[in-house]
Amino acid sequence: MAKLIDGKQIAVKIREELKSRIDKLKAQGVTPGLGVVLVGEDPASVSYVTAKERACAELGMFSSETRLPADTGEAELLSRINSMNQDPKLHGILVQLPLPRHMDEQKIIMAIDPEKDVDGFHPVNAGKMLLGQDCYLPCTPNGILKLLEESDVETSGAEVVVLGRSNIVGKPVANLLFRKANPGNATVTVCHTATRNLKEHTLQADILIVAAGRPGTVTGDMVKEGAVVIDVGVNRIPDESKKRGYRLEGDVDFASVSQKAALITPVPGGVGPMTITMLLLNTVAAAEKRL
Ligand code: NAP
Repeated sequence: MAKLIDGKQIAVKIREELKSRIDKLKAQGVTPGLGVVLVGEDPASVSYVTAKERACAELGMFSSETRLPADTGEAELLSRINSMNQDPKLHGILVQLPLPRHMDEQKIIMAIDPEKDVDGFHPVNAGKMLLGQDCYLPCTPNGILKLLEESDVETSGAEVVVLGRSNIVGKPVANLLFRKANPGNATVTVCHTATRNLKEHTLQADILIVAAGRPGTVTGDMVKEGAVVIDVGVNRIPDESKKRGYRLEGDVDFASVSQKAALITPVPGGVGPMTITMLLLNTVAAAEKRL
């Protein structure tokens, strides 16, 4: 039976370390500030934004929220971002994705000052990451690296299989894990919907990272005995027995996979808390740069 990688507990430890950096900044008259933009009322996005703002408040950081209706024009959003770029109280800017369909996500991300791009999605930061230069690392991939590090998982020389190739999870986490660095130095295979015989690949994985966005994508028969499994997926499954009417499930069939894996992240309580923590970390780093 797999041991759980407790993302909540690891996040608490990192946030405690961050708290002392924040206190130091405050003693020098700087309160790290995060500007959060939410367009529309997608329930999952609302809950992510709320959790991010709550985390800021808990650590004594400043956050300001801009909530805009779903039919907001692109020009209005661009102008809000421009004001936030100029606002000295904000060290980081986060535009919650996905944006409504009528908006060009890349254009919006490009409008954020790369120095304030604490999500690490701007092409300047994505490019720097690819080249191994100092930059804001994207939060979920960096959170996964920290989970592996804190769980003493050796990545050097490991066979890593990443299931998914999105710009926010699959591509960057694959990149970070094959860098000549620690953590990193792994042999990485990236799988997607055109991958033939997925199971043949996943069975090779010492570390399997699943970011497919579909529950039950990975089952126990697809996992090598003793593997480390990181489940990035967050799926809302309708469930009448729950007060809120749904439960959260990852992309991995936890019951069967936990019989094979040595270590596994739960959903919720695995990758999610780390994503938020890495956002706080990037915002604090952005404030430190301005001293
Ligand atoms: P995405 O943009 O939808 O990408 C999903 C990727 O998985 C695509 O590359 C897709 O392949 C691949 N895929 C889907 N089904 C597959 C299958 N059956 N076999 C092989 N490949 C498959 O999703 P994302 O933004 O990366 O997010 C993935 C999941 O992580 C979602 O559930 C999301 O909610 C969650 N997430 C969680 C956090 C967190 O903090 N916990 C953060 C970000 C995302 P193609 O490219 O061929 O379509």
